[in-house]
Amino acid sequence: MSGRGRTMLLTFDDGPDPRYTPDILDTLAKYDVRATFFVCGEMADHNRDLLSRMADEGHVVGNHTWSHPLLTRLGRRRIRSEMERTSEVVEQAYGELPRWFRAPYGAWNRAAFQLGAELGMEPLAWTVDTLDWTTPGTGTIVDRVADGAAPGVVVLSHDAGGDRSQSVRALRSYLPELLDSGYHLTVPRRRYV
Ligand SMILES: [Zn+2]
Repeated sequence: MSGRGRTMLLTFDDGPDPRYTPDILDTLAKYDVRATFFVCGEMADHNRDLLSRMADEGHVVGNHTWSHPLLTRLGRRRIRSEMERTSEVVEQAYGELPRWFRAPYGAWNRAAFQLGAELGMEPLAWTVDTLDWTTPGTGTIVDRVADGAAPGVVVLSHDAGGDRSQSVRALRSYLPELLDSGYHLTVPRRRYV
């Protein structure tokens, strides 16, 4: 991460979804904040305009596989295909190959690390899980981010994969709170190329 002090990363997985991602992008734009979107290839393929918007607005797009499988159950050839196809769509729609990879369910194995590296990607996990996919209520998501806030934290939320209206509303609430608390929300940067 760049900068010093109270820096955090916001990450949104599984999208993009035209029902939720534009709202999230609107909120980020309102506060001039950049975030990281770990997209699935099959979602990105159908929503290329949203990847283009992410590029225009300075967000980082990472690779979250094509179809969100549990990689630990797949052979190397299938894992490679899941990653490669997604990187291709990201390059076409976002304009650059993704530099970051996140395994679905956080389930990495040796092949996933190796193949990701071969495709020019670094792994990026998270440290605070909002568990927003369980739709625990907007207030609970806000509380989890507020309670977990600390320098260097990587927050996991989702902008697709089900009803994510709570995730959308929660961001509208916790983002200004984090900024008021002095946090700098940023995107990951490679230390070396
Ligand atoms: Zn996911």
